[in-house]
Amino acid sequence: MFNPRSIKHCRACGAPAQYRVPADDNRERATCTVCGTIHYENPLNVVGTVPAWGEQVLLCRRAIEPRYGLWTLPAGFMELGETVRDGALRETIEEAGAQVEMQDLYTMLNVVRVGQVHFFYRARLLDTHFEPGPETLEARLFREDEVPWDEIAFRTVKETLRHWFDDRRTGRFGFHAADIG
Ligand code: ZN
Repeated sequence: MFNPRSIKHCRACGAPAQYRVPADDNRERATCTVCGTIHYENPLNVVGTVPAWGEQVLLCRRAIEPRYGLWTLPAGFMELGETVRDGALRETIEEAGAQVEMQDLYTMLNVVRVGQVHFFYRARLLDTHFEPGPETLEARLFREDEVPWDEIAFRTVKETLRHWFDDRRTGRFGFHAADIG
């Protein structure tokens, strides 16, 4: 979660950090008061999939905070050393234990308020056997009229699901980019 002025101590030497504008810069950075190390903070990528089985989509009920007990598409923070697509596939396996064939990038949603960009790929489920990981209470398929719209954990997930069911009706899955909030 993006948290302005969240760095209190230097990651290099442990001394207190202060937010100040470095020379030749135009915004405040956490700067070490002893060794001078500047700690840059940048947006994080959240990557996931829309795993589909015919007209149904796989959702996971969260076993972790935030939004414990609410439903989400399998997604999580991208790791170093992987591509966006790699990360989306990894999260799908970790959270749902689902086997999928990855398809095209489907949504890119800027969540500037929290310093995140969310990417979802379409994915085709290869079977309906799921093995939810420790971060998931339950994984199951939903038709559009079964989706618990009031119990969806994140706006980016709700937006992506709405696009998916709309596109499925027309039979044309385009790429969707939007800014949230
Ligand atoms: Zn330092």
